[in-house]
Amino acid sequence: MSETHVIHRHLHRLPPRAVGGRGIYLRDAAGRDYIDASGGAAVSCLGHGHPDVLAAMHAQIDRLAYAHTSFFTTEVAEELADQLVRTAPAGMSHAYFVSGGSEAVEAALKMARQYFVEIGQPQRSRFIARRQSYHGNTLGALAVGGNAWRRAQFAPLLIDVEHVAPCYPYREQRGDETPEQYGQRLARELDEAIVRIGADQVIAFVAETVGGATAGVLTPVPGYFKAVREVCDRHGVLLILDEVMCGMGRTGTLHACEQDGVVPDLMTIAKGLGGGYQPIGAVLAQGRIVEAMSAGSGFFQHGHTYLGHPVACAAALAVQRVIERDGLLARVRVAGEHLGGSLRQALGDHPHVGDIRGRGLFWGVELVSERAGKTPFDPERKLHARIKAEAFARGLLVYPMGGTVDGRYGDHVLLAPPFVSTDAQLDTIVGRLQDALQAALA
Ligand code: PMP
Repeated sequence: MSETHVIHRHLHRLPPRAVGGRGIYLRDAAGRDYIDASGGAAVSCLGHGHPDVLAAMHAQIDRLAYAHTSFFTTEVAEELADQLVRTAPAGMSHAYFVSGGSEAVEAALKMARQYFVEIGQPQRSRFIARRQSYHGNTLGALAVGGNAWRRAQFAPLLIDVEHVAPCYPYREQRGDETPEQYGQRLARELDEAIVRIGADQVIAFVAETVGGATAGVLTPVPGYFKAVREVCDRHGVLLILDEVMCGMGRTGTLHACEQDGVVPDLMTIAKGLGGGYQPIGAVLAQGRIVEAMSAGSGFFQHGHTYLGHPVACAAALAVQRVIERDGLLARVRVAGEHLGGSLRQALGDHPHVGDIRGRGLFWGVELVSERAGKTPFDPERKLHARIKAEAFARGLLVYPMGGTVDGRYGDHVLLAPPFVSTDAQLDTIVGRLQDALQAALA
């Protein structure tokens, strides 16, 4: 047994203690600094110790730290909802606050289900989601998630979900297809799945706009989500976009779906919403969904003790105001071009780098043992874990994944640096990653 009473993920291996964080750096107890090049897991958009966020949190704690929502609303939760609705895609008129990404997904699934009950279609009980997706670790979120390895030991899962193909051009776009044709094919497969299940049985199609935690940043091909939206509309099926990881500015627009010209019925956000300063997530909902629940039972059959927590809302509001005030979405776009260019320059010709893809400050590098055949490394080699360790030893935090999807798709490294990273810092990240890769492959 280890020398701690905390259950860490790795029960036999205690990680170093983090004792401080400033800007893009985290410091451990030995005084070593690490560049937080993954923002934790695409969380730290403003970096650590941002004075404006800390000041807003302090002020809120002094005023009011907690009030249960069965008794009160709070000004700060109302203000955050106003801010999110003002900047949301068309028609999204309400926000429901929770404490993180999985909770947001659970709430969205239940809201979608309740919506159909309220409008007299209670027979709709099925969801469709995608393989190679991640939607969280609670049981409902795990059920929609498309990661066979994570799901296996908890099967049978609580809700019955059909999984269709993700949009993964590097692996699954055929040589004779344009990106547009590939997107259309995927939408046809979704259409067929809906028809097979029975169009009046399906509640929603759930997808990450840009895939994150399972397959190293999957950017959709042009037209894919428009075609998906059209299929959903034709069958009266809701579209739930999970932007927990790719949302809140990470891809260079506040919501990733803005770049795909599509508006979901429900959208989940978390991570960058509070930037790591407090646990917070939210569901953004189209007005008609909330109106149906309001006109029907008048009660959303869901809830958690800490929803709309005032300090979490204060942190998120401050984070979002800093992003607006400092023009950080524009900075993400410019910095993202720089990071992408720098990655391609350093690793584009590397014999074991199969694909480099990304949007904004959200990039993935896919590793292969052999480029022409796109052959993954043997999962036993645990290359992703080695890269993480070699990067760590060089003062660099990256988010690796590997062999998690039926063992088929191999190893990836995900980068999601804070929006405040300078070009020079981004170059340092790429340089250290390059060294870490060399050492891990040696
Ligand atoms: N959805 C997506 C797309 C995610 O990437 C994650 C977390 N990686 C979650 C949901 C779950 O969020 P949390 O870990 O905050 O519960």
